Amino acid sequence: MILDKIDELLKEVAEMSAKNAEDIEQLRLKYLSKKGEINAIMADFRSVAADQKKTVGIKINELKQAAINKINELRDQVATVETGNENIDLTRTSYPIPLGTRHPLTIVKNEIVDIFQRMGFTLYQGPEIDDDNHVFTMLNFAADHPARDMQDTFFISQNPNDVTKNVILRSHTSGDEAHYMETHKPPIRMLCPGRVYRNEAISARAHCFFHQVEGLYVDKGVSFTDLKQVLLSFAREMFGADTKIRLRPSYFPFTEPSAEMDISCNICGGEGCSFCKHTGWVEILGCGMVDPHDLEACGIDSNVYTGYAFGMGVERITNLKYRVNDLRLFSENDTRFLEEFKSAY
Ligand SMILES: [Zn+2]
Repeated sequence: MILDKIDELLKEVAEMSAKNAEDIEQLRLKYLSKKGEINAIMADFRSVAADQKKTVGIKINELKQAAINKINELRDQVATVETGNENIDLTRTSYPIPLGTRHPLTIVKNEIVDIFQRMGFTLYQGPEIDDDNHVFTMLNFAADHPARDMQDTFFISQNPNDVTKNVILRSHTSGDEAHYMETHKPPIRMLCPGRVYRNEAISARAHCFFHQVEGLYVDKGVSFTDLKQVLLSFAREMFGADTKIRLRPSYFPFTEPSAEMDISCNICGGEGCSFCKHTGWVEILGCGMVDPHDLEACGIDSNVYTGYAFGMGVERITNLKYRVNDLRLFSENDTRFLEEFKSAY
């Protein structure tokens, strides 16, 4: 008896139809509300014989689920009809299409490349996985130089008999200079932007990968004065025509003499502020005259040719231009951060 009633209701549920939300609400009230058909059957359930309770119970659940599914299905149908063709405004433009943004490091790298390309530098990109020979040995790093240590460099494979054959993730883009000088004859005027890797704990100020741009100029009669003038032009293009530079003596294995370059603080204009630690100067790059050892190691006669090289961190320049002082932001892919650079290029 009760099973007949359930079958009848299942048939009704299967045949339910609705034109709008109001119809659906009526159906919901009729079948699924407190005083609805299904609850009425539940009340009858008490009088079902004990040996039939299991069969009837399963059937009631089936009915209830069928009613819920059907009503959801009708809701979807009605929603589709309500936003159907007759409601589409065909005259409405599909714009604005949300445009992506260039990554801030790409914006700044492109700007650096653009400035040096206008000064006649050509682009070169070397391998990120390189050998010790090109990254260290040819560039005059002593065999016991700390940069070769596992603390600083990621090793792909180590050769116990010959360190120069160790395969590593490059820890600077200087290896590109060795590759280039090995395969090109002077005059050389080359710029190599790229990603480099170091075995560092990740924090706001250090990361296991970052980006550099290095430049190399080798020809007859290249002097430190040429280097200084090119860097002054770069600083003025990058940070404004009033920018001043100063060079401080420094040390790098692959250049002699070596210097670090500061620019007048682009925040306070050299007056002194918290960003420049009240000195009026901020460091932006390292540079120097290519060590004759490196030229010879690459088959270039150091008695005939001289050269200069410089290298800068793209993250550092980006921080100076856009005040991004947490390196982690660059690789976290947070679109709220990335979208701040929408207008930057
Ligand atoms: Zn300042």
